[in-house]
Amino acid sequence: MNPTDEQIQGLLEALRATPTNVPLRLLLAETYLAAGQPEKAEPELKRCLQLQPENARAKLGLARACTSQGKNSVALVVLEDLVRDVEAPAQAFLLLARVALRQGLVEEAVAAYEEAKRRDETLLDEELELRLGRPEVEEQARDEETRAGARSLPELLASDDEEPSFVEGGRMRHAEEDGVDDGPASFVENPGISFSDVGGMETLKEEIRLKIILPMTNQELYQAYGKKAGGGILLYGPPGCGKTHLARATAGEVKASFVSVGLNDVLDMWIGQSEKRLHAIFEQARRAAPCVLFFDEVDALGASRSDMKRSGGRHLINQFLSELDGIGAANEGVLILAATNAPWHLDNAFRRPGRFDRVLFVPPPDQEARGEIMRLLLRDKPTEKVDRAKLAKRTGDFSGADLKAIVDLCVEEKLRAAMKSGKPVPIAGSDLLDAAKRTRATTKEWFATARNYALYANEGGLYDEILSYLGIE
Ligand code: ATP
Repeated sequence: MNPTDEQIQGLLEALRATPTNVPLRLLLAETYLAAGQPEKAEPELKRCLQLQPENARAKLGLARACTSQGKNSVALVVLEDLVRDVEAPAQAFLLLARVALRQGLVEEAVAAYEEAKRRDETLLDEELELRLGRPEVEEQARDEETRAGARSLPELLASDDEEPSFVEGGRMRHAEEDGVDDGPASFVENPGISFSDVGGMETLKEEIRLKIILPMTNQELYQAYGKKAGGGILLYGPPGCGKTHLARATAGEVKASFVSVGLNDVLDMWIGQSEKRLHAIFEQARRAAPCVLFFDEVDALGASRSDMKRSGGRHLINQFLSELDGIGAANEGVLILAATNAPWHLDNAFRRPGRFDRVLFVPPPDQEARGEIMRLLLRDKPTEKVDRAKLAKRTGDFSGADLKAIVDLCVEEKLRAAMKSGKPVPIAGSDLLDAAKRTRATTKEWFATARNYALYANEGGLYDEILSYLGIE
């Protein structure tokens, strides 16, 4: 095995133990890129961006991986998004210049190259300079554009052929594999988990069973009693407390596929074309029925119309509402779930009957649930006997994600030790307690804001559960 392969093997092994470790995954992707394997780097970078949507290094890496595979229009979308960040590296502008030129966007290429040089004087691409300096370049690029059918970004976004992805043999698949360009908006996946993988949340599971699973699995019975299945559930609560996890498990529980949509991605990447894109996502979910269609950060879309700054936002909201309402039996077999950390920013129109008429609070896990989540998080890891009750007691106010951070921290440390000594070392209870001391509980901050809304904007008792959680009744 050559040193690069060895390094890749080592990184893959380390990632198996800490799959959400973004720096490690980035390193793997960059190693793939350096080894001339962009097709392997690409999925790793997408995974990084799912975990950290704003990670500039991952965006630049993804653009590089796409460029090397000739997926120029995808690279263009990613780079244009990246350079909106004031801190974007000069390298991003340089790559944007090259890609834009290849796509026949000469003006954009010139501007990007100028900016790259402004940010880093040492950057110089002679070939690019030569091509950009020659008047015939523009013509040539235009010719190339016509020949290759290349389109500008607005055209690309406006095109109809942007079906995002579809299920095949349960494998997660992205439309790019079929040569269709697409932003990192949505995937159809097999959830792979069910309610037994969710620690605690018994009341919530029961509500979901009653309100959406039973109506779906016993449609005739419900109809006989004049009850209509349908409508969505809005999950809200502090970050990291398992809203996404619960939605995914709901799909697993009814053996449905799972489509997860990060609304901020749709909005940022597809301004002006968001309605079309949203429609495509709903259509995709309808085709994948039975399916759980999950919208994360839904407040980004439903931002109260009054404080909507983005022009065209109203159209988008209306589009979303009409998709939710569905025409005829359009949404049959599609369970719509959404999550938000800021329900107070959601337009009231979303809560009307048939839309997100059920609003469920997902609180931080209680002591018993924390013990259970720890059991789930540790079940496939080498451990000594761990006193989970003690750990649960010491982790008040921790979210599920905070607990996961504790486990990840221990795994990393044990891995490092194992690499040195050459033999695996199990995680001990004391390691976890020690890591807990170094990890911050993140749910308190959320309650500081939520408390104010619950006290002063509690229309129709919408946030009573927050008040009762805080012991204010
Ligand atoms: P955000 O609001 O930031 O999107 P969220 O509420 O959707 O967060 P998740 O992403 O579902 O939170 O949770 C983060 C991680 O924490 C999950 O991937 C899972 O590993 C773990 N986790 C959270 N809650 C639970 C739980 N009840 N049982 C098992 N694991 C959990």
